[in-house]
Amino acid sequence: MVACRPPPGTESASLGTRLRAVGSERRHFGTSYAAIVTDLRLHDDGATRDAPLARPLSDFLPIGRHHARGLYVHVPFCFHKCHYCDFYSFVDREARSGEFLARLIADVDWTLDRVAGEIDTVFIGGGTPTLLTAEELTVLAAQIRRFPLARDVEWTVEANPETIDAEKARVLVDSGVNRMSIGAQSFDPRHLKTLERWHDPANVSRAVDALRGAGLTNFNLDLIFGIPGQSLADWQSDLSRALALGPEHLSCYGLTYEANTAMTKRLELGQFEPCDEGEEAEMYEATVEMLAAAGFAQYEISNYAKPGRACRHNLVYWRSEPWWAIGPSASGFIAGHRFKVVPRLGDWLARETRHSQSVVDHEAPDEGRHVSEALMLGLRLLEGIDAALEAHAVRLVPTRAQVFAKAIADGFLERDQHTSRLRLTRRGTLLANEVLAQLV
Ligand code: SF4
Repeated sequence: MVACRPPPGTESASLGTRLRAVGSERRHFGTSYAAIVTDLRLHDDGATRDAPLARPLSDFLPIGRHHARGLYVHVPFCFHKCHYCDFYSFVDREARSGEFLARLIADVDWTLDRVAGEIDTVFIGGGTPTLLTAEELTVLAAQIRRFPLARDVEWTVEANPETIDAEKARVLVDSGVNRMSIGAQSFDPRHLKTLERWHDPANVSRAVDALRGAGLTNFNLDLIFGIPGQSLADWQSDLSRALALGPEHLSCYGLTYEANTAMTKRLELGQFEPCDEGEEAEMYEATVEMLAAAGFAQYEISNYAKPGRACRHNLVYWRSEPWWAIGPSASGFIAGHRFKVVPRLGDWLARETRHSQSVVDHEAPDEGRHVSEALMLGLRLLEGIDAALEAHAVRLVPTRAQVFAKAIADGFLERDQHTSRLRLTRRGTLLANEVLAQLV
């Protein structure tokens, strides 16, 4: 659901490979955490094709219980496939949401037997979780509440503005959801049309009203800039309209052209001109300035929050902390093991996996890879990385010392005088992918 989370790389690629692929993109700042969350490029669930080899997660995870900060649940259903989207989401013509929930409960059972400690953050993403009916959302929320949730748990659900009404808003808030992330993308029908995004911009404020009416006090809006035909003034207008709705958080992603999306095919066919890179950089600069003036702190390359409202769940990813994952194509990170739950709803439903989650793309703990990922992800945060991680990264790969020194000399990285943390400069955020790619 989130705007244009850019999962490049192949299905079997390691996270490190995927991050390197991000570094080679034309866009410099339009990326997000989603490469870690879901990285499928399958756009429907109907065709028969080779499924990646799946294995029970219990084959890999150490026996016993494991601490995790977060829990991610993937709901793959959408009512239309947006042209820029390469998430695992599709229009389910077989109406399998009931089967989906029944299977999900089995994976909740399995996961609960392995959870230690409290879960601090829950994120139900997709897809469009709010495409589920109010009754189905009630069932889903009841499953989440079976987990040992922290008293101050942050519980986010992604929503398409068309799919939120007063009843669903009440069900979600009454169930314990305390943060919503709404895919607005643009308030200009022309640009929504370019993205083949099917919603009426007026429904964004209706959704916000419904959620506020139900008592919600924390919501994010996703926006996209760099849409073909979008001017700087258009983008500033989108930002103004978003701010007028009073969000606590804004995610502003540059449009990326992912392999196998309709948008990319249209680009290759010459059906439109992509946004000029210089103009897109101006939009990014305008975002930083407008949102700062409105009281939002930029805490990650694409994310801005009012004080105390940074998304705690996304921070779990960026700080390389562990999280559980449930639902087709969801990726998790537990006890140093990275894995992706078996993709494609049909396979996920069909596999005889009642005794374990079934996963693909398992990566065993690896110190070198873990540190590379921690560098790449941590430096996306404006807080940067601490001296201990930096020193450890250099111990593992001594040439990183020169890379850090050069990036500082070139004005892409800087060291905080008080904390000694290493972080991107404003200039560095504009070329983040190129800068970060050199550190892997
Ligand atoms: S609504 Fe569905 S198709 Fe559109 S961007 Fe979100 S997940 Fe992708």
